[in-house]
Amino acid sequence: MSPDAPRAARPSLTVLAGPTAVGKGTVSTYVRDHYPQVWLSVSATTRGPRPGEVDGIHYFFVSDEEFDAMARDGRLLEWAVVHNSHRYGTPRSTVEQALARGRSVLLEIDLQGARQIRDTMPEANFVFLAPPSWDEMVARLVGRGTETAAEQRVRLETAKLELAAEPEFDHTVINDRVERAAAELVQLMGVDPEPAP
Ligand code: 5GP
Repeated sequence: MSPDAPRAARPSLTVLAGPTAVGKGTVSTYVRDHYPQVWLSVSATTRGPRPGEVDGIHYFFVSDEEFDAMARDGRLLEWAVVHNSHRYGTPRSTVEQALARGRSVLLEIDLQGARQIRDTMPEANFVFLAPPSWDEMVARLVGRGTETAAEQRVRLETAKLELAAEPEFDHTVINDRVERAAAELVQLMGVDPEPAP
């Protein structure tokens, strides 16, 4: 969008962040599937696909070399090493194209990425997704069963630090029920809160 273009009455870029295993992926996928008014960015990552994950839909699964090139060439709006392991980043061109088309764009990223976006796009809307309680979050992470015990420990350590970041955000949404949290998020995004039939 050109700097001279009129500013939308409401921010059209929303960043959803929050501690690990709070359900950011579940809420953002729910929004993508039920609110076609929202365009959910697909991140690039160097981690391999989990069973059922499809390249280009859940992530763009790229090699270390390709990620290096994307970061070097400025093709990422932000990127970070998450949970001390793999790199994740937001492709710049697709987000800019969606914004230029007037779409309401949602980024589901980690806290490091959210801070980078705040530095470069401070007009964005920053939403923190919080768990109903710490115990519930631990139960979700363990119950998910996709990480080893060692990976779970790293993620819980990260989650503690991430919970403390809540005051940096414009809004907090409690992920008590995915449908309710998604509806509140969409309302905060300023788009029509009616889900698609
Ligand atoms: P997972 O490997 O479980 O899909 O995601 C791990 C973490 O990476 C999640 O906390 C998610 O928010 C974060 N993540 C996903 N995409 C991006 C991205 O493009 N940038 C950043 N900074 N974090 C991301």
